[in-house]
Amino acid sequence: MTAEGIAVVYVGDEPGLVDAEALAPQLRQAREVTLIGDLWGVARPFKQQLRDTWTAATRARRAASKPPTDPKAPPSRCGRPRKDGEPCRTWAGSGTDTPGSGPCRAHGGSTARRDAEMRRQAELALTVAQYAGKARTTPLSPEETLQAAVALRDLVTLRPALRGR
Ligand SMILES: [Zn+2]
Repeated sequence: MTAEGIAVVYVGDEPGLVDAEALAPQLRQAREVTLIGDLWGVARPFKQQLRDTWTAATRARRAASKPPTDPKAPPSRCGRPRKDGEPCRTWAGSGTDTPGSGPCRAHGGSTARRDAEMRRQAELALTVAQYAGKARTTPLSPEETLQAAVALRDLVTLRPALRGR
């Protein structure tokens, strides 16, 4: 092969004189490949063999450079035990804030909104209880009375939202 990338290969008159597999990597670099010898009997099959080798090498390189693909995970189910003892067949995380994972809504799936409401409910209940406790010994100031009333109202209006979940 010359510096200009021109390769001349004598393939001879008999098949098998030149090993296409062995020459393929070298000839891949060539800009131009001229085959000399029995054009119909040897050179054409040799050329085809070269092409096949190159194609296979390219495919193998592409396959190797591809990141391995995970086998598709089957869609997961809630799987928590139902009342009848069978695993729940509802989709995982169905009706929660994290669809696709974890238990479904019916089996205690985490819902940030519901959690926040429950925290708020606990805070309001504590506020009401504190004011109620204080009112037994000391009269509440108008401001405290208002805060207790607001907390109690919020607590009462919050409860229906938590029902039916
Ligand atoms: Zn479930």
